[in-house]
Amino acid sequence: MSRRALHNVLVAAASELGASLRLGVTVETLDDDGDGVDVLFTDGRRERYGLVIGADGLFSKVRAMLWGDAVRPRFTGQSVWRYNFRRRPEVDHLMSFTGPDANAGLVPLADDLMYMYVTSVEPGNPRMETAQLPALMRERLAGFGGLIGELRGEITDPEGVVYKPLEVVFTPEPWHRGRVVLIGDAAHATTPHLGQGAGMAIEDVLVLAEELERGGPLERVFAGYMERRLPRCKYIAETSIQIGEWEMNRVDIDRSPIVRQMVELTAQPI
Ligand SMILES: Cc1cc2nc3c(=O)[nH]c(=O)nc-3n(C[C@H](O)[C@H](O)[C@H](O)COP(=O)(O)OP(=O)(O)OC[C@H]3O[C@@H](n4cnc5c(N)ncnc54)[C@H](O)[C@@H]3O)c2cc1C
Repeated sequence: MSRRALHNVLVAAASELGASLRLGVTVETLDDDGDGVDVLFTDGRRERYGLVIGADGLFSKVRAMLWGDAVRPRFTGQSVWRYNFRRRPEVDHLMSFTGPDANAGLVPLADDLMYMYVTSVEPGNPRMETAQLPALMRERLAGFGGLIGELRGEITDPEGVVYKPLEVVFTPEPWHRGRVVLIGDAAHATTPHLGQGAGMAIEDVLVLAEELERGGPLERVFAGYMERRLPRCKYIAETSIQIGEWEMNRVDIDRSPIVRQMVELTAQPI
């Protein structure tokens, strides 16, 4: 599923439920006095809330405000390059390939759309110039034959290459301070090796909503949230990072049992 398609589903559902969506604005200050949180927004508005949820991703400002510099994203040493193509009929499932220096894959997104990814080791996390991205991605794919090799030459549009250094963060538990709680990547961003980051973020929301519906003081709500989320998020975060390390060190592993275990685990009730 493409990010755009997921966003459309989420925005439509949130709007239907009456959520107020405001873009281009962020939080300036948070003042938690124990009974509520006074929030000053960058557009000058002030509001008071019983609960503030930091869902602002890997570089979360909410996390930085409450946990400070002690909890910061870490570059794992690996990056991922992605490029969209018209889907080939044979790409009807995720295909992954091991090359001499890198791992690549093809992922179907829609009837007529698929993307290619390749991971690479990028010591020092260098800044990549947009104009150079197609040539650099093609370089990372050197040595691949088959379908990957065939498609390599079609990587020509600098704006079409999505380059992401893989950065991770795992906020020490508990993921709440006072009346503020973190969910998703703000709390636990990992590498995409198991493709579970967005899944974990969505599960966080469901569990937090269930715990809020059960009622009781916020302390109880947060305790229920942590108890149900910590083990699974930790497992996904650590296992994903481990796979990335094996890739970077060119350790030849069989991913099937790891993926099977992940699928079995995430199929369990939360
Ligand atoms: C290369 C790559 C491939 C991936 N593939 C997969 C996959 O196949 N499957 C999967 O499940 N996951 C995948 N992930 C992980 C997934 O993208 C994340 O885990 C997921 O997007 C986390 O959702 P989130 O809502 O917590 O954070 P985000 O999606 O990062 O959303 C955070 C939101 O907060 C906003 N924001 C940020 N700062 C502020 C601020 N100061 N004020 C207001 N708003 C702010 C941002 O604009 C953004 O809209 C992948 C990640 C990468 C890097």
